[in-house]
Amino acid sequence: MTGLHMALHSSPKYSGALNNTAPGGKPPCHPALPYLSAYPAPLREQARQWLQQDKLEPWLLDKHPQPHDLRTDKALYGYVAELRSRYMRNAAQLQKVLYDSKLHVVHNALGLHTRKAQVHGSRINTRHEIRIAALFKQTPEAFLRMIVVHELAHLREPEHDKAFYQLCTHMLPDYHQLEFELRLYLSWSEHAGRSLWQPDQAATAGSGTTTAEQS
Ligand SMILES: [Zn+2]
Repeated sequence: MTGLHMALHSSPKYSGALNNTAPGGKPPCHPALPYLSAYPAPLREQARQWLQQDKLEPWLLDKHPQPHDLRTDKALYGYVAELRSRYMRNAAQLQKVLYDSKLHVVHNALGLHTRKAQVHGSRINTRHEIRIAALFKQTPEAFLRMIVVHELAHLREPEHDKAFYQLCTHMLPDYHQLEFELRLYLSWSEHAGRSLWQPDQAATAGSGTTTAEQS
């Protein structure tokens, strides 16, 4: 299944691929599907047909009807800290967790884990930061979880190797399926030029429940 294993970071595969729209503003009739480039050709062809036949949108909405409501950095930090303490109690503490609106566009990355060594006299402190592309503010919780699990796994495993993906699937058993669905969604979103899930959808979807909003 190594074909499904691919970097979510600054992979050169993404270069130039984010502008998938022709100069006239009309989406190309044969979408390039850069997010799915590591998958087998028959699967890519299937995805292309779903996209052209407008099947992806209802399929995604059926699988993931609602977005999450973790839209602030504070809410995101709490979410990541909870997962870290549940699955990676002995891993390093996180100094910073935030949504980054430049990550996707400028660096072609969906998530980023950084470690910075800071020397204080004879001590060395390592600061760990996790950045999540801001597009994840408007996704279902399953997609956010997938990218967070990916970045958390890097606290222990720097490379995208077997041990890394074992850790991912330990934290999230359907990690690979969700990565595929996320990549289908990104392909759809680029083609359609919009997000599928709207930010206020979570607040209005529940009947009579109030959403605690952090400012
Ligand atoms: Zn990675």
